[in-house]
Amino acid sequence: MALFTVDRRLAPCVGAALAGFAATWVWEDPLNVVVAASAGALAAALVFLRSPQETALQSVDTLEETEDDEALETAPALAPGQGRAMLERLPMGVILIDRGSSILFANDKAAETFGIQTLVDQPSTALRSPRLIEAIDLGVSEELASSVQFTLPRAQDVHLRAHIRPLESAADSERGKREAAALVVIEDVSQAILTMALHRDFVANASHELKTPLSSITGIIQTLLGHARDDPEASERFLNLMSAQTDRMMRLVEDLLSLNRIELNERNAPREPQPVLRIVFEMADALREIAEQDRVTLEVFEASTHPFVLGNREELAQVFRNLIDNAIKYGGPGNPVTIALAPDTPERPEMIGISITDRGPGIPREHIPRLTERFYRVSVSRSREKGGTGLGLAIVKHVLNRHRGDLEIVSTLDEGSTFTVWLPIAEQSRRTADDGANADPDADANAA
Ligand code: ADP
Repeated sequence: MALFTVDRRLAPCVGAALAGFAATWVWEDPLNVVVAASAGALAAALVFLRSPQETALQSVDTLEETEDDEALETAPALAPGQGRAMLERLPMGVILIDRGSSILFANDKAAETFGIQTLVDQPSTALRSPRLIEAIDLGVSEELASSVQFTLPRAQDVHLRAHIRPLESAADSERGKREAAALVVIEDVSQAILTMALHRDFVANASHELKTPLSSITGIIQTLLGHARDDPEASERFLNLMSAQTDRMMRLVEDLLSLNRIELNERNAPREPQPVLRIVFEMADALREIAEQDRVTLEVFEASTHPFVLGNREELAQVFRNLIDNAIKYGGPGNPVTIALAPDTPERPEMIGISITDRGPGIPREHIPRLTERFYRVSVSRSREKGGTGLGLAIVKHVLNRHRGDLEIVSTLDEGSTFTVWLPIAEQSRRTADDGANADPDADANAA
């Protein structure tokens, strides 16, 4: 099978083009260094294929293949061997185009990207994107290097960037033989585009959230300076309104800063052992007064052991504060909120589950997967009326990610919602529990 019909003498050209591409790419974004290193290694391999040792590099299979008369006729440029294997496995699409704008070579990733079994020997129009095809044509006919971005429509659109680099004709190329005229390297930029869109939305949302209380403060100041100036009763009312709006802005800024801090540290799992249930009880106690204002009773379980998790105390406290606070806020006045240990499950071995259940109106199913997105609310007006920022559950999710934990949400309309926090139990606690002893070192001291 003549998969490669490119002349081997082109190997240094392709190698040089890949090396140049890798250098530009890293310059554009240092994060690209890993893939660029692969491209660099590939470039070296391609150049190496030209060296006198090239025959030694080929596998026995390859030698057998080249002994075949027909294979010799169409002697591949990128000889089977390490160079070709690397090119085929590169995690980015690589395509070689000949002088007649047909595809000479496409690696696995390129074929997968365009959803075609084999792109080889097809015209470049098989690549489907008019922008890409036009750029390839210019690369071949005008020797024009370019980069183009295009989208392949799918259930979830795939955004791609292609770099087209013309290849010089080899000085000793044979007449009438197919020759590579352009190298096309394709990278998937869908994730980067999605991140940019999320960032844009986030800035727009945060600005909007800050602008609303600011506008209302501006209005109040004008009223105080105008007709309410000599009315002490109205002045007091407006000053109270102003205070509520500044509190709201303060909460928002604090939540934004927390989120930012947690995200910066998200990859570093904290290593301090923390008595997680004690933290839960402390948070329940701290919120009891607020609960009572809404006639909400907090029903808290009693712990017989105190397992430890590796964590950051302040962040874990924030998780339980946010969840208990939400249960009080949305559970409805007069309805109890229950804090309990979740039963062990084989799906989450060696984890502790702490659940917070309210008897509120519940959350419609379609909203549940999005609740931990920043600023996502089932009802914006209800959240604002309750003093919410729309960031509480996003903070919970990021803290749990950092702690290698998880949040499970189960809700039934007209019955209520249960938010369960799952955290890995620290190894030391597990060992102590296996010995049948209390995992909390304080427990001995308390008993003594
Ligand atoms: P907020 O500051 O608005 O409470 P959160 O991020 O804490 O923001 O929660 C996001 C949204 O999830 C809330 O606006 C609310 O619509 C919904 N939600 C959270 N907890 C509950 C709950 N216990 N019961 C019903 N809805 C809830």
